[in-house]
Amino acid sequence: MQTILIGTKNPGKVKEIEGLIADLPINIVSLMQYPDLPEVEEDGITFEENALKKARAYSALTGLPALADDSGLVVDALNGAPGVFSARYAGAHSTDEQKYLKVLAEIQDVEDSLRSARFVCVLALALPSGAEHIFRGTCEGFITREPRGSGGFGYDPIFYYPDAGMTFGQMDMTAKNAVSHRGRALKLFA
Ligand code: IMP
Repeated sequence: MQTILIGTKNPGKVKEIEGLIADLPINIVSLMQYPDLPEVEEDGITFEENALKKARAYSALTGLPALADDSGLVVDALNGAPGVFSARYAGAHSTDEQKYLKVLAEIQDVEDSLRSARFVCVLALALPSGAEHIFRGTCEGFITREPRGSGGFGYDPIFYYPDAGMTFGQMDMTAKNAVSHRGRALKLFA
């Protein structure tokens, strides 16, 4: 049985990963079992940089293979913003609503056909041997003109997913996880 450290304190993320690798001979531990490990700052300019930085640090600190992620929303009409700044786009302590309203305001004059966007999730796996693997999942959609739905988190209410005909905020969690950027990256990892 191989143990892998997941570089997150988010129980939702741990549960999603456990569900996807249930059939594999892998034992998952997370930062919840290592409360004394320092936070790793996400100061890179790409999702890959941030995910790798965290995975390397947690593997070096624990001697375990470590998996870490970085994710965000990429809006074409904003030249890729909020991108790696998705979590703090309207300031360090901004609410999800303040962040998505900022995006809506910034592209209010952009016509429907140019409102394309994607969610991106990069997972980095760092092994004690020094070997590294990157898994990138994306999910393509469009930015709505007003928020719709109250499910999910972050930018879900303004992300219209054409295949489902609704926003991520209107989809139930199982349906979203099956097609989401994170779900796709996790399937590549599994
Ligand atoms: P991190 O990957 O935990 O650093 O989070 C990046 C940020 O991107 C989150 O705080 C959200 O604002 C946004 N984000 C990432 N994934 C999703 C998603 O599935 N739905 C909505 N927002 C997301």
